Amino acid sequence: MTAPAPDQAADPVARRRTFAIISHPDAGKTTLTEKLLLFGGAIQLAGEVKAKKNRQSTRSDWMGIEKERGISVVTSVMTFEYADRVFNLLDTPGHEDFSEDTYRTLTAVDSAVMVIDAAKGIEARTRKLFEVCRMRDIPIVTFINKMDRETRDPFDLLDEIEKTLALDTAPVTWPIGRGRSFAGTFDLRRNLVRRLDDEVTPTPVNGPQSALFDQLLPADEVGPWREEVELAMDACKPFDLQSFREGHLTPVFFGSALRNFGVRDLIDALAANAPPPRSQDADRRTVVANENRMTGFVFKIQANMDPNHRDRMAFIRVCSGKLTRGMKAKLVRTGKSIPINTPQFFFAQDRSIADEAWAGDVVGLPNHGTLRIGDTLTEGEDLVFRGVPSFAPEILRRIKLTDAMKAKKLREALQQMAEEGVVQLFVPQDGSAAIVGVVGALQLDVLKERLLAEYGLPIDYDTTRFSVCRWVEAADSRELDRFVSANLSSMASDLDGAPVFMAPSPFSLKYDQERWPDIRFSDVKDYQ
Ligand code: GDP
Repeated sequence: MTAPAPDQAADPVARRRTFAIISHPDAGKTTLTEKLLLFGGAIQLAGEVKAKKNRQSTRSDWMGIEKERGISVVTSVMTFEYADRVFNLLDTPGHEDFSEDTYRTLTAVDSAVMVIDAAKGIEARTRKLFEVCRMRDIPIVTFINKMDRETRDPFDLLDEIEKTLALDTAPVTWPIGRGRSFAGTFDLRRNLVRRLDDEVTPTPVNGPQSALFDQLLPADEVGPWREEVELAMDACKPFDLQSFREGHLTPVFFGSALRNFGVRDLIDALAANAPPPRSQDADRRTVVANENRMTGFVFKIQANMDPNHRDRMAFIRVCSGKLTRGMKAKLVRTGKSIPINTPQFFFAQDRSIADEAWAGDVVGLPNHGTLRIGDTLTEGEDLVFRGVPSFAPEILRRIKLTDAMKAKKLREALQQMAEEGVVQLFVPQDGSAAIVGVVGALQLDVLKERLLAEYGLPIDYDTTRFSVCRWVEAADSRELDRFVSANLSSMASDLDGAPVFMAPSPFSLKYDQERWPDIRFSDVKDYQ
């Protein structure tokens, strides 16, 4: 890993590093986030991130759910500077019922840090999130955490990454001892030792034979350790920038987030080698990050950031050019021009007005419902970014309203919730009550609580006879019309008016798919 090249520092786009942390709950994401932010000087005290989580949940009442169940439902962004780089760390919800939110967040990053618990290896959720990264060839840096506890064998862990994720590994550092013997890390290519008792200044050595290791490790461990390291130096692949950037190889760091150890090497690696803002595909062309004109897309809406004002924050990833406070941007979906008066940057504890933001940056735009997930903003050009996905829900419920007088209000509220991505909304073509779809059951609780708290609408859920749904398309529009007329009582429209077919079971869906070979049934849809 080399120090950042000074010439890059002058170019604001080349300086940006926009990334997320992917991990299984409990692997250490929150702890690592705190430590990364400390490097950026963004917070003074470790523990602040958790403290902030608590503050936020008391600030917004509907987050009572979050408090009760001890999970984080909030996705946010944290911006900090380190080593001449501007880092945007996008947080992802830990609970898998909010996985759609996480997938959308991953469309807005250029790289990811994969945190693995050294005792557990690759766990289910890490693997799932990795697969989402792979779809976009997002480069991954691996941090094997909790080396201060009893761990699995490092070779075994590397092997598991290679086999289960089909990803080459290049260990950059190697642990010196594990568990109670953990004494630091050894940089395999640069022959540098970082000691647990002096994390800041590495000591140069002349290889694994150095006498320093006799001091650092118990007498019976040092011999086998030397053999292990020599094997690692011989057998493991060296770091290769191109292979990493293409998403084929992951550099691996060992450490302990809790002990703030190994984090410096990790952040230096991100500064030096993680990619700057990538090009982004739009419907008409690919947008390159250092184009002059501003473009960006909304990947996340967060409501209730301030309960005193019923505002919503739309998080936009700037894809090219410069977003300036006071500028006007075109909202391509409606063709209207919207003023960007109060764009905001978020830090660990604070937010501030962003006077300017560059490609790679993520800013919050407060609004009262003008912006939706998937919206593209430009300086006038008609283009729409692709790839902010919506997934076919796995649970469908009909909304039961106890007070029939409030039907109109409910329609408006559901529309808002769907635009925020809280649930998906399907309006049946036969005129029956709206159906909401979610990927995880907890989303239903959030919807119910928010409808009551924010709109005074008490609702309940009824089951429907449908359990699966798919977006339907056909190359020949007449064939689609025929399909829709033949299945009217199973058809609904989504938020954008796109036709959705609902079926009672996967089995009957399969039957219909076989009967209608010219209809395309999709379980993922780009937001329009
Ligand atoms: P998250 O669910 O991935 O955000 O995980 P947390 O950061 O909340 O960590 C889960 C638990 O593991 C907490 O009790 C942490 O204190 C602990 N933990 C995190 N990193 C380390 C580490 O490096 N060593 C040890 N021993 N414990 C750790």
